[in-house]
Amino acid sequence: MTSVIHPEPTHRMLIGGRLVSAEGDAPDVLNVLDVVNPATEEIVGHAPDATDAQLDAAVSAARRAFETWRTTSVDERRAVLAACASTVRAHVEELAVLLTTEQGKPLADARIEIATFADWLDAHAAMAYTDDEVTETATHRVRVRRVPLGVVAGIVPWNYPVVIAAKKIAPALLAGNTIVVKPSPFTPLTTLRIGELLADVVPAGVLNTISGGDSLGPRLTEHPGIRKIAFVGSTATGRRVMASAARNLARVTLELGGNDPAIVLPDVDLDEVVPRVFWTCFANSGQLCIAAKRVYVHEDVYDAFAERFAELARTVKVGNGLEDGVRLGPLQNRAQYEKVVGLIKETVGSGARLLVEGAIPDGPGYFVHPTVVDDPADDSAIVTREPFGPVVPLLRFRDVDDVVRRANDSEYGLSGTVWSRDIGAAEELAARIEVGTVWINQEAIPTPDLPFGGHKASGIGVENGLEGVLEHTDTQVLSVRRA
Ligand code: NAD
Repeated sequence: MTSVIHPEPTHRMLIGGRLVSAEGDAPDVLNVLDVVNPATEEIVGHAPDATDAQLDAAVSAARRAFETWRTTSVDERRAVLAACASTVRAHVEELAVLLTTEQGKPLADARIEIATFADWLDAHAAMAYTDDEVTETATHRVRVRRVPLGVVAGIVPWNYPVVIAAKKIAPALLAGNTIVVKPSPFTPLTTLRIGELLADVVPAGVLNTISGGDSLGPRLTEHPGIRKIAFVGSTATGRRVMASAARNLARVTLELGGNDPAIVLPDVDLDEVVPRVFWTCFANSGQLCIAAKRVYVHEDVYDAFAERFAELARTVKVGNGLEDGVRLGPLQNRAQYEKVVGLIKETVGSGARLLVEGAIPDGPGYFVHPTVVDDPADDSAIVTREPFGPVVPLLRFRDVDDVVRRANDSEYGLSGTVWSRDIGAAEELAARIEVGTVWINQEAIPTPDLPFGGHKASGIGVENGLEGVLEHTDTQVLSVRRA
């Protein structure tokens, strides 16, 4: 991603119901972002680089639209969300190809991501949310109202640009807020295209999309018109976002980094569990906040587990996501690629043994094949850092207290998985892990009905479920004393 003067944007921002690329009447002096296909390193499109005036226009349009949107009934908002969902569903194929081209993930996964955008909106449209609850007693009638906040800034990273945008849009709109969505400069195109498709589906100004380079995030989060920042990204950026929010006392939800443990107890069926743990680690080439990033395997099954796990890592097909049969695409951008390659080299340099040293092919594309590290030291970088790429350590453990201590020995606390035939034992262990969600005997997959949020440095607040919607409201109590 670089910011240059000239080429026409291939996609437009949605600002106040209008599709906008140029500022004023000077389309030949646009600032645009080049968007690079990480599988080929070719430029696949140009996104507008929003000016200050365009940012102001987006926030002002959202503010104006808020005055009307806040007065709509929850049912009217449900209908708009459902209409957005069906519009996006009608364009799954087009959007999925664009997503693979800019993000790198296999086309089958991109199709799932686009469909999940629609599912998320539909799930919110159907959610049992009420913004006005009345309690009657002999002496009082009390209403607890959920009042929308105003303009929400939805800030999205590059790993799941579309589904994370849905997690920002759906609760914000259902609660009666309006929103300005800012995708990552690495992956703006699919979000902008969705904005184009929804321009006539959503009332003007209720949903706005803006794209821009590195300065746009801080400009948006510091904007005095923003009442809430719904942010997903790294912990380092989350700290900066919270500092920006403090200026205007904007509300924040922060969904940040993770270093999630998977804990495999000795009674598992390896045929079933190894592939599930493998995909919990390597889905989206490991570029998933809730990917398992440390796999603790009981010593009784460690060798058998490691052998099968390594075999999967050796044989999975890595390549351009548009090719048939590819299960893992490239890293999304050069900086992430260099970070992951550097971590693998550091791990090798530290003397750790690799069960699989994934190829790092020459030629175009940010490809790194899955790499599996054999029981490195607990204090090694591959165990303590969030790699956010296709490299994972397997770690031996003997007793449950020890594995709980090691799993919790992290600044992060996003999620984890526990694998065992003994559900009682698994649940007991899971409850001791200091994270927001533990999935037992299943891959880490959030759902729209359940609250999701990180503990410790993995975040503040929750998204999804009724709790996620309520985080987009202020509470107002109207208490009437009966005569
Ligand atoms: P990032 O923090 O670099 O960027 C995220 C978004 O914030 C981008 O849109 C970026 O342009 C914007 N941004 C950057 N600096 C900003 C600032 N100062 N103020 C406001 N906005 C700013 O993260 P990334 O590299 O795009 O994504 C990877 C990270 O995201 C990983 O750490 C991963 O764990 C995390 N993540 C977390 C979740 C979750 O739900 N907890 C989900 C996905 C990704």
